[in-house]
Amino acid sequence: MTEQTGEHGREANGPGSNAPGERVVTFAPATGAPLADLAVASADEVRRVVARARRAQQAWAVLPVEERAHRLLRLRDALAEHIDDLVDTLSLECGKPRQEALVHEVMPLLDFTGWIAERAPRALAPEGTTLHLMKHRTGEVRHVPRGVIAVISPWNFPLLIPMATVVEALAAGSACVVKPSELTPLVLLQAKAIYDSTGLPEDLFGVVVGTGATGQALVDAGIDHCVFTGAVATGRKVAAACGARLVPCTMELGGKAPLVACEDCDLERTARAIVFGGFANSGQACVAVERVYAHQAIYAHLLARVRELVAELRQGDPARGDVDLGAIIFSEQLAVAERHVDDAVKKGARVVCGGKRLPGPGLFFEPTVLADCDHSMTVMRTEIFGPIVPFMRVQSEDEAVALANDSTLGLNAYVFTKNRAAARRLAERLEAGSVVVNDVWSNYATAEAPFGGIKQSGFGRVHGEQSLRDLCDTKYVSFDRLHPLSRDPVWFPYTARSYAWLRRGAGLLFGHGSLAKRVGSLF
Ligand code: NDP
Repeated sequence: MTEQTGEHGREANGPGSNAPGERVVTFAPATGAPLADLAVASADEVRRVVARARRAQQAWAVLPVEERAHRLLRLRDALAEHIDDLVDTLSLECGKPRQEALVHEVMPLLDFTGWIAERAPRALAPEGTTLHLMKHRTGEVRHVPRGVIAVISPWNFPLLIPMATVVEALAAGSACVVKPSELTPLVLLQAKAIYDSTGLPEDLFGVVVGTGATGQALVDAGIDHCVFTGAVATGRKVAAACGARLVPCTMELGGKAPLVACEDCDLERTARAIVFGGFANSGQACVAVERVYAHQAIYAHLLARVRELVAELRQGDPARGDVDLGAIIFSEQLAVAERHVDDAVKKGARVVCGGKRLPGPGLFFEPTVLADCDHSMTVMRTEIFGPIVPFMRVQSEDEAVALANDSTLGLNAYVFTKNRAAARRLAERLEAGSVVVNDVWSNYATAEAPFGGIKQSGFGRVHGEQSLRDLCDTKYVSFDRLHPLSRDPVWFPYTARSYAWLRRGAGLLFGHGSLAKRVGSLF
């Protein structure tokens, strides 16, 4: 099944190799200017980085979580001293407006780091359990550092996506080795240099630059967990490789976020949310508004207002003045966007605005709105990952839900309504890892919110307290509370007498008129 996956042109390039001498060469997408020429880490080098991380982790894991958290605040403070440098690199490397670099990446990273440091001691504290049956014993659930966490990350948010997991992994007592996208390795190397300046153990956080083959080598290098963010097709391969090694993994894959605009929505806010949610980061976001289902009573008005707002957007090289829309990071995405528009128009969609790539050398695609779309069109079914927002008219809430759920992906979904009861009802019915009411994108930047998908959008969660526990192994420790008998009644030898005694117990506990039946349960 490829029809509705988050696949796009990236797969066409193949995984590359990490043969000796191979290089990663990067370009500024807004201008085409060369940026960096870096050596690819060989498979041996990847193994060495993982081995060093493992050694560093052994000393790190024995520190009390409070101490680890306290030391991580140094990283937050060091990153905060370099806010402008990080924004500069992000803006250059991704061609994104400086405000997007600041608000979508640097600020959430600083906030997450502080929040994780504050929450980790509580989230990872051992949890005592009172046993409902074996009253003579007690138990404790412990969260044990897992070891070396591999992070394989994409190009659209090349700072926040990998670094949030680095912070979570380190707080949870693990080490981390990151393989950034070959298109955008620079900002992560900058973050690593900032990390190294803090006095935190250098080997605890490693970076291996390279291609898909470097990612494969990392999965094969003796890691203990892999957090992968990327396309569905690549995710399948990485999950299969993890499965073959019985390494647990977290899969953050594609999105196809529907926005349901109800009849009673605040039209102005909904229109502005569609424009921001569809075109921020030039639509290259797994949480982007990828399809709008608007109630027929407001469809025309909403579309008209969106068109007016899009006409006000300024697009171009962020280095040359204030712009709202920056570049497309990966050149293949321009062809993907064109194919979506052609397919939709052929099947009866109307181009309300945009629809074309701009002349080079920079990589830009006009903010595009398509009207009168339906589910025969790829633009409604497969991940766009570019600045295109298709609209479809619906007659009812039921129709909107059915269409929104008619997807193999389920990451974010958006609902716009003034009716709180309708919002709750829709949130319940929409198949997504997160449902956001009267807002877009904000859940990804919420430290408390566990983020991830269902269906082919993946499994496992990043962010929130859950991310800390997901990166740990669970250890259950069972203690005796009372002085134990020398011979437990269920141990050997089995005799007619011991059986009769236990059988009476079973009747007492679970039989007709038993305690459990009378109170509903034993606890
Ligand atoms: P890809 O799947 O192409 O690449 C992701 C990462 O995997 C890159 O670092 C890539 O390296 C690496 N990689 C490629 N092949 C392999 C392999 N066989 N084994 C191990 N690693 C490999 O995704 P993109 O970078 O194109 O990112 C866009 C995708 O990411 C979209 O589908 C988007 O929806 C998804 N995404 C999901 C998010 C979420 O949280 N759910 C958030 C953001 C994006 P290289 O770059 O060198 O090829």
